[in-house]
Formats: sequence, structure tokens, C-alpha cells
Amino acid sequence: RRSRGSPYRVVLLGASGVGKTAFASIFAGAADSLDSDDCELCADELCEREVEVDGDPATVTLMDTWDVETESDWARENFLRSADAFLLLYSVTDRASFLRASELRISLRRFRPAQRTPIILVGNKCDLVRRREVSASEGRTCAAVFDCKFIETSAAMQHNVWEAFRGIVRQLRLRRDSE
Ligand code: GDP
Repeated sequence: RRSRGSPYRVVLLGASGVGKTAFASIFAGAADSLDSDDCELCADELCEREVEVDGDPATVTLMDTWDVETESDWARENFLRSADAFLLLYSVTDRASFLRASELRISLRRFRPAQRTPIILVGNKCDLVRRREVSASEGRTCAAVFDCKFIETSAAMQHNVWEAFRGIVRQLRLRRDSE
């Protein structure tokens, strides 16, 4: 059983350009302050901090900018296996990134067949109304098919980004409590 204080390892996955770096900088607090005092341990590809969810602190290690596309199958598989949960991002302005998210969801299922790994499908860039190519209902349907949660966000407007992080912690807690 996971001890209460050990960090949850959350991975940002998705095609290039969907907003993973933007999510990671919001998480690291870069948008709030110039120094990243909020973040206990921040490197290029890793940031760990405490997040308060429903009144209780959780430690989350966010793993970003891992270019899964260019890594070997072995390295990619190991990396994906090491995570506790995934935010699976696409851009609502880019249908190809939506299809990529489906492919990634399928490979996750292959790598982690027996586990109920928390995943949230995240449709980012919902501020770009006129450039939208993927509707919210398509996103919701896809999430239902893939048996994961769904949220639309705008990293640019800082809309729903923390809601996505808090959602993944809630799911991790539910899983932990049922273990
Ligand atoms: P990554 O390749 O997945 O890390 O994507 P980035 O975070 O680098 O984002 C790619 C581009 O999209 C950058 O120019 C961001 O400023 C922009 N971007 C990211 N999120 C949003 C968003 O929610 N709305 C808008 N309008 N632009 C965004």
C-alpha cells in the first residue's frame, strides 16, 4: 500500500504542440512568480510539488517533455510503466493530435493491461474558438469509449488546468483507497 506522503507520478502525454510545456509551467508556478519557489524540485523534465486537493495535500511529480516519439520502444515502455497516472492531451484546434491521443490511449492499454491507471483526456486550447476542429462532444464520446475522464482546458487562459491536475489526484486517491 502506498504511504500517504509518497509522490504520485503523473505524465503529460500528447502530440507535439498541444500544450504540454504550457501545462508544466503552470504546474511549476512559472505563471505566478518569476522564481519557482513553489516548486520543490524542478528540472527540465521533472517537477515535484505539493498540491492541495479537497483540503488534503498530495505530492505530485509531473513528468514532462519526454519525447516518447523519439525514444526506443524499450525506454518508452519503461517510462510509461513507471507512471501512476496520465494526462492525455490533444489540441481542439488539431484533429491529428486528437487521433494521436487515441493511439496513445491504445498503447497505454497494451503496456498496462491489468491496472486501472487513472487517465484524463484533455482537450486543450479551447480558447481558440474559431480554429476549433474537434467538438467537446467528440472528446467526451472518445473518453467514454476509452473509459477515462474528460476535460477541456485553456493553458493560455489558465482555464481548468488545475482542475485537470486535481482530477487526476482525486482518481489516484480513489484507486489507493480501494487497494
Ligand atoms: P508541447 O509541444 O505539447 O509542449 O506544446 P507547447 O506547450 O509548447 O505549446 C505549443 C504552442 O501552443 C505554444 O505556442 C503555446 O503558447 C500554445 N498554447 C499552448 N496551450 C495553449 C492554449 O490553451 N491556448 C492557446 N491559444 N495557445 C496555447
